[in-house]
Amino acid sequence: MQPPYLKVNEIFYSIQGEGPHTGMPAVFVRLAGCSMGCDFCDTRYAFAQGTEMSLQDIVARMESYPCRNVVLTGGEPTEQDFPPLASLLKKRGWTVHMESNGAHEADVSAIDFLVISPKKYVCQEMLTKAHAIKIVVGQKSDLEDLKKYFHYAGTHTTVCLQPESNLQENIDLCVDLIKQNPFLRHSLQTHKMANIK
Ligand code: SF4
Repeated sequence: MQPPYLKVNEIFYSIQGEGPHTGMPAVFVRLAGCSMGCDFCDTRYAFAQGTEMSLQDIVARMESYPCRNVVLTGGEPTEQDFPPLASLLKKRGWTVHMESNGAHEADVSAIDFLVISPKKYVCQEMLTKAHAIKIVVGQKSDLEDLKKYFHYAGTHTTVCLQPESNLQENIDLCVDLIKQNPFLRHSLQTHKMANIK
């Protein structure tokens, strides 16, 4: 597959359910593929399944919705050549958000709001560019290891703790950590609670 084609798992219109923009209507473009292989991944269906689409076809589909916020997500969007799509959308007046695991250095110059959710490894450069760092916290998490992300919290970057799978024991863990470190923020997966896509 050569650019300007992207392998797209799905395009849908919904409401951002997690992170600092919870509640924001957005068109989600889920690009296929991710090589990270996390145990708790809730988008495994996007690893292989997808349709090759031209940028023009992607934008035409997106512009059938009455909204100009986009969330580029996956899978892992940086495993495909997403920058031409991000630039095109920006030129057409979209506000471009992207969610990435930050494992690969990428051109994010056309991204208005970059959320990095570090997993097994992460690129330092991507962390410094992030507007939000979203850390998934579960019972198996190494809490001392997660603390290395806390110092990124500041005026440019929000650091959120997100309880894995919305489980109560993970919520309790996050709440304790946030109360001890009040510069952190909580991120629940509200779309799962509300049973919306
Ligand atoms: S990085 Fe994200 S998309 Fe990739 S396997 Fe992990 S949770 Fe799933």
